Amino acid sequence: MNDDTWPAVPGEPFLDDPLVGRFRQDGPHAPRSGGILDSRAVRRWFRILRWGVPRNLYTYQQAWECRDGARVEHRGRSLLMLSSYDYLGLQGDPRIEEAAIAATRACGTGTGGVRLLTGTTDLHVRLEHRLARLKGTEGAMTFGSGYAANTGAITALFDSRDAVVADSLAHRSLIDGCRAAGVELRTFAHNDVEDLRRVLAELPAARRVLIAVDGVYSMDGDLCPLPDIVAVKREHGALLLVDEAHAIGTVGERGRGLHEHFGLDPDEVDLWTGSLSKAIPANGGYVAASRDTIIYLQHGAAPYMFSAAVSPGASAAAETALEIMEREPERAARARRAGESLRSGLGELGFDTGVSSTPLVPVILGPDAVAYRWARALWDEGFFASAVVYPAVARSASRLRLCGTAAYSDADLKATIEVFARLRERVGAVRMTSAAG
Ligand code: PMP
Repeated sequence: MNDDTWPAVPGEPFLDDPLVGRFRQDGPHAPRSGGILDSRAVRRWFRILRWGVPRNLYTYQQAWECRDGARVEHRGRSLLMLSSYDYLGLQGDPRIEEAAIAATRACGTGTGGVRLLTGTTDLHVRLEHRLARLKGTEGAMTFGSGYAANTGAITALFDSRDAVVADSLAHRSLIDGCRAAGVELRTFAHNDVEDLRRVLAELPAARRVLIAVDGVYSMDGDLCPLPDIVAVKREHGALLLVDEAHAIGTVGERGRGLHEHFGLDPDEVDLWTGSLSKAIPANGGYVAASRDTIIYLQHGAAPYMFSAAVSPGASAAAETALEIMEREPERAARARRAGESLRSGLGELGFDTGVSSTPLVPVILGPDAVAYRWARALWDEGFFASAVVYPAVARSASRLRLCGTAAYSDADLKATIEVFARLRERVGAVRMTSAAG
C-alpha cells in the first residue's frame, strides 16, 4: 500500500476542514464491533487517511473561494485548475449566469417536487427539446444527475430476465444501475470488439441484451469505437446504451458527441445518456431516445418519480450553455487542442498519458502514494490536479487526471508542462513511458 518511509510534507496543514482536521489530531475512533463502521471498506479508507492526512498529502475536498476562468482561489491564493470538467470554459460565462438568475427570479430556486408531480417548468421542457435536437433523437428527458439518468434508465427498462454486457471500464453509475436492476451483468475487455462478440455469443439468443459503454472513458480519456460496436449490436440483435458524460462538448465538430464525430445515425443507439455538470456548467443528467422510450421512462424511471427535478436555474443555465456550445464550435476545438498540447508536452517529458485521445488526459504514475505526492507538490507550485486512485482505477495505475479546457491560454499550457518538468526531478518515483528511457 502506502510507503511508510515517506516523510510528511512540511508547512501548513493542507486542509483546515474541521472534520478532517480533528481526524489529523486524533485519528479515527476504534470502530465498535458490529457498529456501522465495522467493515473492510471503512478499515481500508481509514488506513489510507491515517497515513496521508498527517503527512499533509490529503488533496481532496478543497473549498474554493472563487473561480475566474481557468483559475481557482483558495485562502487568497490563486491556483491554475488542471482537473475541472469545464471543457468548454463556460464556467462563469455571464450569459449563462444571467439566464440562471432570470430563471430563478421567474420560477424560484427549487421545483417543489419531482418532475412527474409538481416539478416541471417550461424551462425543463425547453431544455429537453434542445437535448433531443442536439442528439438527433425524437425525445429527451432530464434527471437530477447523470448518475440518476443511468441508473434510472437501466432499472426501468431491464430486469433479471435480461443481460447487460458492459465495457470493463464503464462508469460506476452504469454498473450500479445493472446491480439494482438485477440483470445478469457481464463485462468485455475494454474497447475490445472481438471480446464483446465472444461474450455476446455465450448468451442465449432469446435473451434481451443491452451493450453498455461510455462514449469517452472518464479515467483514460479514450473514445469508444462506436461504429464497430454498432455493427456487433446489429449482428447480435442487441440494444445499445452510450454514456456521453465526457463526450458532450468535447467530441464532434459542434460538441454533439459520438454520432456527430463518426457520422452515425443517432437511431443506431437506443439510449444516449449524459451529464449537465461537465462541459455544460450546471447540474443534472439526461436520457435521449425514441419518443415512446422517453414517455415510458417518464412513468417508469424511479429517479424521475422519486427524486427532485433539476432546479429552474440549472435548467436555464444548461439550455443557454448548449446554445452557446453549438454557436461557438471553436470552444470544443480549443478544448481538443489543449488536450493535444498536454499529451504532447507531457509525452515529450516521458510521462505516461495512456490511450487518451480527447481533452481528458491522465498522467499515470503508479502507486497511490505517488499520485498523492504529485498532487501535493503541484499544489505547492500553484496548480491543482486531482489524484485518482484505486478503486476508481486499477491498483498501481493511480494517476493525476488533467482536463484540457477552452479556458487555458497558451501561457497556462506552457506553465503546466514546465511545472511537470521541474517536479519530475524533485518528486520523482514516476512511471514513465519506455520512450523516455
Ligand atoms: N457517467 C460518466 C462517464 C461520468 O464520468 C459521470 C460523472 N463523473 C457520470 C456519468 C455522472 O454524472 P453526474 O456527475 O451528472 O452525476
